[in-house]
Amino acid sequence: MAKRSNGTSEYLENIPDIKFTNLFINGEFVDSISGKTFETVDPRTGEVITLVAEGDKEDVDLAVKAARKAFDHGTWPRMSGFERGRIMNKFADLIDQNLEELAALDTIDGGKLFSLGKESDIPSASRMLRYYAGAADKIHGETLKLSMEFQGYTLLEPVGVVGLIIPWNFPSLMFFIKAAPALAAGCTMVLKPAEQTPLSALFYAHLAKQAGIPDGVLNVINGFGSTAGAAISSHMDIDKVSFTGSTEVGRLIMQAAATSNLKQVSLELGGKSPLIIFDDADVDKAVELALLAVLYNKGEICCAGSRVYVQEGIYEEFEKKIAEKAKSWVVGDPFDPHVQQGPQVDKDQFEKILYYIEQGKKEGGTLLTGGKALNKKGYYIEPTIFTDVKEEMLVVSDEIFGPVMSLMKFKTVEEAIERANNTKYGLAAGIVTKDLNVANTVSRSIRAGTIWINCYFALDRGCPFGGYKMSGFGKDKGMKALYKFLQVKSVVTPIYNSPWL
Ligand code: NAD
Repeated sequence: MAKRSNGTSEYLENIPDIKFTNLFINGEFVDSISGKTFETVDPRTGEVITLVAEGDKEDVDLAVKAARKAFDHGTWPRMSGFERGRIMNKFADLIDQNLEELAALDTIDGGKLFSLGKESDIPSASRMLRYYAGAADKIHGETLKLSMEFQGYTLLEPVGVVGLIIPWNFPSLMFFIKAAPALAAGCTMVLKPAEQTPLSALFYAHLAKQAGIPDGVLNVINGFGSTAGAAISSHMDIDKVSFTGSTEVGRLIMQAAATSNLKQVSLELGGKSPLIIFDDADVDKAVELALLAVLYNKGEICCAGSRVYVQEGIYEEFEKKIAEKAKSWVVGDPFDPHVQQGPQVDKDQFEKILYYIEQGKKEGGTLLTGGKALNKKGYYIEPTIFTDVKEEMLVVSDEIFGPVMSLMKFKTVEEAIERANNTKYGLAAGIVTKDLNVANTVSRSIRAGTIWINCYFALDRGCPFGGYKMSGFGKDKGMKALYKFLQVKSVVTPIYNSPWL
């Protein structure tokens, strides 16, 4: 990694050289047709890191043409699953070899803790590739006994050209949560990273080429949602869109799909997940878990446990202990190994979080801790905990996507279930209790796609992840996600003596 410094912090020396800033179409890095670029900004300082080519509808068209050609005439969908898997494993090896540089790119572009990128996001990205590489040669249809006269079988075929639109909070992981199953299925693709975090995606495009992924199979178009993103979701020659992002944009994607070519859609959307802590919990451990649930990745995680319900018997002790612990939470440069929380991704997100904190105060919430930005350059916000809040208040009902917790007290199991379900979202929930009956009752009663019992964020590539209600539909991860990129064809034939021959 090349070193340079602007002198404001010793950790800024870790800025890697930026090697890739163009669009990646048909195996080549190219300028956008318009020649336009946009700034990508370091949230540690608010300063511009570099200019990146800005893709628009015409660039999406070019990328779709390349992907269509690679799908209709290229080798990728036609080669054996074993061979696709071999190339995907090579891609994963290259990621492992460039681990630190990739982690550093996500840190300077998105404010992610360098340790988190290095120990979790980037290794998980390469494991995601290996998981689906192993599945690529195990894609089988069924044989069907239809009736006395006919037999049949099903083929599982790749869906075709897919559009993958991802958010900024896990730039590396999201890239492979989408691209790895699509590659294994034999699809070709146009991926749009979030405009806040394009840098690692372009590095992955370069590694894909080095690994031997044929030209046109994986195209990356940087750009904004309302232009490049909308061009993907409304494109007449894209067969499916897999989207992760906000519920509001998910709705737009579905509308665009409906009014264009009725492409398939899967949506992983927002959340406002409850963490329910019962009286029999170990208070110190529950405090740790609750802080992890809301502060991991500075609260910029869709399944953050941002509504914390604590049973009345331990509430006072819990409140006192969590306040102490939150006050000692270390916020600062995400390259510093002692820091627990880096800056929010950009100015917009920073201002959005501060707006919600103000609303929480106006609506009568009490600030137990935090509540303001750090008095320094960059987009840093104190870990913030509200008490005296109710489900109808904005801080409790809206996804804030920042280090802001709403802490509430409850009495009974029934009350906890009812209040946990009192949300338009249904992405995840956590339960802390030693009582198996309570854990079973609550996990079956909460309408959410993932329930963690006595843990939080135990996320594994083999475990399907996705929402209920307005948190979306169509699972990511696990074998369920692979089948999202496959379609079933039935082939039927008379067993004997076709009357039409
Ligand atoms: P966002 O919806 O603003 O943007 C996500 C992506 O969609 C970006 O690439 C953006 O450019 C693109 N986009 C924006 N407008 C578009 C349009 N009109 N047409 C097509 N594409 C468009 O979300 P964000 O702010 O980047 O990410 C935060 C949101 O993502 C949160 O709501 C969070 O909960 C959600 N999220 C969900 C999951 C999950 O798995 N359910 C995971 C991570 C993030």
